[in-house]
Amino acid sequence: MDKPANSCTAIQVYLMKKFETKAIRTQSERTQNKEHAVPVYLTSSFVFEDAEDMRAVFEEEKEDNAYSRYSKPNLKDLVEKMCAIEGNETGINAAYGMSGIFTTFATFLNAGDHILSCASIFGSTHSLLVKYFPKWNISHTFFDAQASTASLEKLVQPNTKMLFVETPTNPAVDIIDLAALEKFAKAHNLLFVVDNCFATPYLQKPIQYGADLVLHSATKYTDGQGRVLGGLILGREELIREAYLFARVAGPAMSPFNAWVLSKSLETLAVRMERHCANALYIAEQLSNHKAIDLVKYPFLPSHPQHEIAKKQMRLGGGIVTFSLKEGLAKGRSFLNNLKMLSLSPNLGDTRTIATHPASTTHAKLSEEERLQVGITEGMVRISVGLEHQEDILEDILQAIEA
Ligand SMILES: *Cc1c(COP(=O)(O)O)cnc(C)c1O
Repeated sequence: MDKPANSCTAIQVYLMKKFETKAIRTQSERTQNKEHAVPVYLTSSFVFEDAEDMRAVFEEEKEDNAYSRYSKPNLKDLVEKMCAIEGNETGINAAYGMSGIFTTFATFLNAGDHILSCASIFGSTHSLLVKYFPKWNISHTFFDAQASTASLEKLVQPNTKMLFVETPTNPAVDIIDLAALEKFAKAHNLLFVVDNCFATPYLQKPIQYGADLVLHSATKYTDGQGRVLGGLILGREELIREAYLFARVAGPAMSPFNAWVLSKSLETLAVRMERHCANALYIAEQLSNHKAIDLVKYPFLPSHPQHEIAKKQMRLGGGIVTFSLKEGLAKGRSFLNNLKMLSLSPNLGDTRTIATHPASTTHAKLSEEERLQVGITEGMVRISVGLEHQEDILEDILQAIEA
């Protein structure tokens, strides 16, 4: 079968065993210009040798680029690299993480289908399921991130088609046991889809736990520097082929420039993630016994409720730390206002440390009960720990708590 993210440029294959080497040395074959870095192929279409060549490409008898909505060299470069480091067979890109998620749902769900999803999922994914899919008669049931698979059995319906999860979850950083879900998904013949945005391929490879499709918002740690948005859908060839055929006509494609930025970013993913995780663990440990804080949640702190599962399925604990301020909502707001260095921004996975207070901002529209269902307490603060010096990050957090 043709590779969906195809291009005229072959990918060079060196003797590459380790993550870092694959992330740096997987790249499109050089052109006659002998460039060292992969160029940006900023072209809307591609030319054919003759009428027969054009016919063969359009019939997909021959793997080649035709039109940028279908495929392009920079997208192939990014997808091949992501597959090499995460262990997936193949994949496609989308302009945003959300266009990848929408493409996945639109490709694999039919009217009348039901999706089983963990309750704490990205806000826009939640809105797709709650506000828009019911109008196409696609229904959903949410389950608690800490629910046992035995309790999930009761939620499966005859029309349940897909199992959708994020782990670690946002913003509560709960951990879902992927190995347990693999068995559950197989037993019920569900398409097992994992949004791996928070963990990145460096920390967690859902494909090793039987995920059928792995999604990424490349906007976050893949870019890692707060510059471009992007999405990826990765998985087995026969599934990606279906998503590709939908995307080819629906047109959620990523721009070649963004694909180029993201592919270059992957070269430093391992180094960045090591430091994000080291800084986050330091912040979590330092805040653990603070008198103004109820609970610090970080997957690699032994106090995390799913610490053992986190250690089993993740290389390190990730870059997100949450903590709960004892004095609740008002204190959460004043904490944000008192920060001097940390940014107030909706992004995460940036070199810059970012603080949010979900109860008064991103999740303010939910009732207190709804917030608790997705693990958000009134005083919960989420820190996306960046790459500044860990002592400077800590100092700003401490002074903002004490101010
Ligand atoms: C940000 C995010 C998305 C959406 O990605 P965009 O690139 O903003 O469209 C999806 N899932 C998770 C877990 C995210 O953090």
